[in-house]
Amino acid sequence: MRAVVASNLIGGQWSTPSSADRLSVEDPATGETLGSVPASGKAEVDQAVAAARQAFPDWRRRPVVERARVLFRLSALLDQHRDELARSLTREQGKNLAEARGELQRGIENVEHAAGMPSLMMGDTLEDVASGVDCETVRQPVGVFAVITPYNFPVMVPMWFWPYAVAAGNTVVVKPSEQDPLAHQRVVELAGQAGLPAGVLNVVHGRGEAAEALAGHPDVAGVSFVGSSGVARRLYGRAGAAGKRVQALGGAKNHMIVLPDADPDVVAESVVASVFGCAGQRCLAGSVVIGVGESYEPVRERILDGVASLKVGCGLDDDVDMGPVISDAHKNRVAGFIEQGERDGARLLLDGRDPEVPGYPRGHWIGPTVFEDVSPDTPLGREEVFGPVAGLARAPNLEAALELLAASPYGNAASVFTQSGRTAREFRYRAGISMLGVNVGVAAPMAFFPFGGTRNSFYGDLKAQGKDAVAFYTDQKVVISRW
Ligand code: NAD
Repeated sequence: MRAVVASNLIGGQWSTPSSADRLSVEDPATGETLGSVPASGKAEVDQAVAAARQAFPDWRRRPVVERARVLFRLSALLDQHRDELARSLTREQGKNLAEARGELQRGIENVEHAAGMPSLMMGDTLEDVASGVDCETVRQPVGVFAVITPYNFPVMVPMWFWPYAVAAGNTVVVKPSEQDPLAHQRVVELAGQAGLPAGVLNVVHGRGEAAEALAGHPDVAGVSFVGSSGVARRLYGRAGAAGKRVQALGGAKNHMIVLPDADPDVVAESVVASVFGCAGQRCLAGSVVIGVGESYEPVRERILDGVASLKVGCGLDDDVDMGPVISDAHKNRVAGFIEQGERDGARLLLDGRDPEVPGYPRGHWIGPTVFEDVSPDTPLGREEVFGPVAGLARAPNLEAALELLAASPYGNAASVFTQSGRTAREFRYRAGISMLGVNVGVAAPMAFFPFGGTRNSFYGDLKAQGKDAVAFYTDQKVVISRW
């Protein structure tokens, strides 16, 4: 396969800065170079923001039904290119084809939902707020938005944002992850084919330097960021201090509580898929599995049984359950958590370091790893590992399990497994976490509902997708009239 030399998209022109270094994009299963992107800097960010700013007045004047029509066409094109996009995503990210198709589907659902902008953007009216005086709200686009995204869902996460932003009449500059930006680049090409005018959607490739320049740019009105918590917090602080709208989604440490009355088959399947799917590189991945009371031993056995049949390998091959992690550096980071866990006294039941994956000697492999007796005060118990590592914990009752959730610095997702409606309601009422699963291991993002956590998992107030996206990308003007 020929390596892709990807360019920035600025004002409708694909351009490569002559001065910038290039960053290689690697297949994490084979180690093969798939392509490269420019390591852009402030100069390219300035050009992209200027192009977006220039495109804004005309685009916002286009009737919203016309803007929506572009998204209808894009949705049809994405549907036609499903196989090509899913394969490209698997090659650069590593997840298996089923997961890649699922990711693409969630992205398409955002395009479909954003195409409903003529209804979503409607305002409210009230007659006679005073005698003969009426009041109404009108939602208007804001200007140029920055979208900065991570490597683990490189197609879906950008589509949590820019379809809504452009449908509402804004223009956008996207800075995708430098580790796997090629499938999304193809989505952007298809958006141009669907009729998105030059300058409405711009792409600048690069590392943190480009992201910082974009988030801090004086002509950027708002920032949608997804990535690790430290970067989320810093960008939120900087962009917020500059008066911008910011939604910054960060990392996670997700707990799953299993009650003794839970259906053991549902638990086994859901927990294993949640912890080990996408090699643990999901912000919704289960990380700590809490067995309540006598559920602990059977849950432990079922998880170890389920894990034994997982096949680790290249995501393009048949029957592979778990692909590689994204890079050698990330593999070493995950292995570091495993070593530290052992030093801190957790019991290693299954060690996934350096598994044999025949035919792929250069892949970044970490197999399923299971610990028990993980203390919540240790790095393995508290911090985001972002790899296929389960920490099993015990709690005498729901109360004690909820205390473990309350002590976590993160608040992205949590699940409960029970057949009691009362227990499920208690969990929902008190968990204090934003995305909750009841007998579901991954409280997956649905385009028509908001998505985002709390505590160190989210900085901001309006979340991704759903009605929050419409509110984030529009300003409500209030008009009071007397005739
Ligand atoms: P990351 O924070 O390293 O990178 C995210 C984006 O920020 C990338 O585009 C990157 O180039 C840029 N970036 C990196 N360093 C930067 C810096 N110093 N200043 C400005 N920008 C910088 O995250 P990642 O490793 O790509 O993705 C994994 C992380 O994303 C995990 O923590 C995961 O939980 C999180 N994530 C969260 C959600 C959510 O919904 N909360 C969803 C997906 C991923």
